[in-house]
Amino acid sequence: MGAGRLGRRLKAVTMRRMPGMITCAEFERFVVDHYEGALSEPERRRFERHMALCPPCRVSWQSYRKAVALGRGLFAEEDRDAPAPVDEGLVAAVLAARRDE
Ligand SMILES: [Zn+2]
Repeated sequence: MGAGRLGRRLKAVTMRRMPGMITCAEFERFVVDHYEGALSEPERRRFERHMALCPPCRVSWQSYRKAVALGRGLFAEEDRDAPAPVDEGLVAAVLAARRDE
């Protein structure tokens, strides 16, 4: 869809205007850590600010959470008490799908 390309252009403008903000690549690296609560307080704030200003990354985060929730459902029987394992392949697929829009 054309919306993705437009989104990326708007994003580039946003990045230039917001010094100190994390990039989309950094956001992607933070996604797993944020989900696991492993980010420091300043990192978490930067993550959330980026998500608030960057719709494509917000979609990516929601897709990630959905993917993990799905994985957790599938593994719920064996792993009732353990945290859901992060399926790297699934995450990569979500991020790749986002890049292809
Ligand atoms: Zn972004």
